[in-house]
Amino acid sequence: MWSYTDSRAAVRDALRLSRAMTLKAAVANLDLGGGKGVIMLPTDGPLSSARRRAALLDFGDTVHALEGRYITAEDVGTSSRDMSVIAERTTHVGGLARSRGGSGDPSPLTALGVEAAIHASCERAFADRSLRGRTICVIGLGHVGSRVAKRCVRAGATVLAADLDQRKRGIAEQIGARWTSSAAALVSEVDVLVPCALGGILDHESVPRLRCRVVAGAANNQLADDRVAELLQERGVLWAPDFVVNAGGVINIAEELGGYDPASARRRVSSIGDTLREIYAHADADRTTPLAAAMQLAARRLARSNGRHPIGA
Ligand code: NAD
Repeated sequence: MWSYTDSRAAVRDALRLSRAMTLKAAVANLDLGGGKGVIMLPTDGPLSSARRRAALLDFGDTVHALEGRYITAEDVGTSSRDMSVIAERTTHVGGLARSRGGSGDPSPLTALGVEAAIHASCERAFADRSLRGRTICVIGLGHVGSRVAKRCVRAGATVLAADLDQRKRGIAEQIGARWTSSAAALVSEVDVLVPCALGGILDHESVPRLRCRVVAGAANNQLADDRVAELLQERGVLWAPDFVVNAGGVINIAEELGGYDPASARRRVSSIGDTLREIYAHADADRTTPLAAAMQLAARRLARSNGRHPIGA
């Protein structure tokens, strides 16, 4: 649920996000395809709660009309409470609250997957998976970033953290991370940069200024365009493809389809590290980028599944 300048921008965003969803589900080996729903907010101010509820109910009707070929779930601008409203109109909704038999907030599992990705990337870059003594900078201390930062501190890393929202400084201090500005964070001299804010952070201007060895974070669509993956490689920066790193949330929600089992969800999310190891090995063998290797892995899995599965989320 987001504001767009016009409906073409909303459609473009839905297509871009659903492409990422396709890659994410395929690489995570989920029996799901790729789809995304976009609810376009009016640009003339926030919705009243009555209109917001009406929009969610309309959206539920639309999802229901697709008869299960599309399963919706929470993302930017919506919450698990909103999913309960949508559930008044359709059963094809994931990420309901735990009290309603759903898997609840996906962020803790997304953060678990990001940590697994950081370990696997450190193993590739430094021949040591341990985070003890590593320096890590987390950009964006929201639902996912704050949890990733906490996990990295616990694993023995020195953590820097930044957020545009100055109120997040208290969270940084609470978890034992050092606060820095967003501009300084991007070019900080650290082992691992962890983007957990919005997309498009890596482009032809920012990549030459990076001083980290690894980038592995939750933010969707981190590359301004696919060619930036080659620029990162030329600069000697190991980039963990975002749609591999941040699949924890959708893996968790997909677990709901067979009856939610938290232990099984955690096991499957932790295997994000193994998937990345496989991608890095293929990239090395084929002398290509991790992005190209991840897209090839997705293409192989999609060819096998041949469009037999519903799409989400
Ligand atoms: P969130 O809205 O809770 O947190 C984002 C944080 O980033 C906010 O605190 C915001 O102030 C900050 N921020 C925004 N722009 C910034 C900038 N330029 N510099 C520094 N900080 C900035 O979002 P979230 O749920 O934590 O998700 C973070 C990213 O991960 C998003 O790109 C999201 O699409 C992606 N993601 C999230 C999940 C999930 O389970 N929540 C799953 C997959 C992907």
